[in-house]
Amino acid sequence: MNRRSLHPLAALAAAALLLIPSLTATAQRRKTPTPAPTPTPAPVVKNPADLIVVAGAVLTVDPAFRILGESAIIIQDGYIIEITSPAEADAKWTAAERIERKGSVVMPGLVNTHTHAAMTLMRGIADDKPLMEWLEKWIFPAEKRNVSPDFVQAGTTLACMEMVRGGTTTFADMYYYESDVATAVAACGMRAVLGETWLDAPAPGHATLEEAQKVTRAFLTTWRGNRRITPAVAPHAVYTCSKETLLAAKALADEFSAPLLIHVSETQDEQKRVQAKYGTTPVRFLDQIGFLGPRVVAAHGVWLDAGDLQLLAAKKVSLSHNPESNMKLGSGVAPVLAARKAGVVTALGTDGPAGSNNDLDMWEAMDFAGKLAKVTALDPTVLPARDLLRMATIEGAKALGLDRVTGSIEPGKAADLIAVDLAEPRLRPVYDITSTLAYSAKESDVSLTMVDGKVLWDGRKWRTIDANAAVKAAAEWREKIQKSLKDAAPAR
Ligand SMILES: [Zn+2]
Repeated sequence: MNRRSLHPLAALAAAALLLIPSLTATAQRRKTPTPAPTPTPAPVVKNPADLIVVAGAVLTVDPAFRILGESAIIIQDGYIIEITSPAEADAKWTAAERIERKGSVVMPGLVNTHTHAAMTLMRGIADDKPLMEWLEKWIFPAEKRNVSPDFVQAGTTLACMEMVRGGTTTFADMYYYESDVATAVAACGMRAVLGETWLDAPAPGHATLEEAQKVTRAFLTTWRGNRRITPAVAPHAVYTCSKETLLAAKALADEFSAPLLIHVSETQDEQKRVQAKYGTTPVRFLDQIGFLGPRVVAAHGVWLDAGDLQLLAAKKVSLSHNPESNMKLGSGVAPVLAARKAGVVTALGTDGPAGSNNDLDMWEAMDFAGKLAKVTALDPTVLPARDLLRMATIEGAKALGLDRVTGSIEPGKAADLIAVDLAEPRLRPVYDITSTLAYSAKESDVSLTMVDGKVLWDGRKWRTIDANAAVKAAAEWREKIQKSLKDAAPAR
């Protein structure tokens, strides 16, 4: 299905509208002497649609950032085909399903540009530790002993539940067994860019570079062209991947025109390590080896300098800003204002839910990004609500190369949308809907989550996930993981 196939439907709608006035005019031209036969009312031709969503207001996040009053969004084959008034929608369209959200504002689904979804199963396993201790004593041992296809399916399903409930419709993932991650995401119905993560050290699912290439090639081959899932290659970082590994990842991604997801300049320690090894910054090193390009999404970028930013802008690399993770891990403050000024597409992410956040909440990502920028610049005017909403939607889509598909509510785009119920006292009164959404709304206000025209969260329950089974599986994994750590390290 592509945008072109929408046009005949739109043309049909226009023709149906023209038909009625022209018939009326013909009837009026008939004059006496003979009494006019009683005109037969023109049959009202209604076009069939799959779904009509009636919203109290619509935040389109289109290029003009239009905010519409009460509106009806017409959806066919998973795509938005028209946005009109409810009265006109009733006159023109007949839909198999109608969803009323008159007390809600409908907006594009949120786009989380950086996470490690399956790590939900290790949420809270060890917090408030120095990064290396957290990784080496807890995360790496727990991953080594537990990460498997079953683990990633259970963890990703739990993550999808959380994201869908909270209004995220698209996410980018870096983890292992991404083919199994894809199976879980496909079942849940979200949209995702899924990057098989490579390290020089043996990783779950592939111990060597050759194995990583083989596994990832099979993953890319299986999932390329999928309507909702974009397979990707994710070399972990410059300090964990050799030049050979980085270039092999790029070559494979180039072969499949796939995105490249990578951590870049997250900590000061990373800067020091790369400086010691290569005598330069991670970004300049990546540029020197020819790694950078428009399909690269760099996560974090906390320690980027002006020269790095210029390079990222020139090479059209996108940046995923993860303010909550950077704060929780004490990594620093990413130069988001400078990045945006330099012309780098800057989107938002949460990072993994184990230790570095600890959730997948994109409303918090917006709120934290805004406040962190303001307190750092000592200027409340920077990163206003409108910019935050753009970063969480259309700029996220742009960063992931999906902006022709998702990120705004416009005819021709996929129906990836959410409704935010404005009933809570915390959200009243409303002076400026952008402020309400960026600074007051929370995950619990989301009253509808839809991806590709399919309802995943209806305001009360998940439509595609067995919630009880997913929560039970997470509890069982907690026992297994806990036991694996105790068995291996009784002294802790
Ligand atoms: Zn990360």
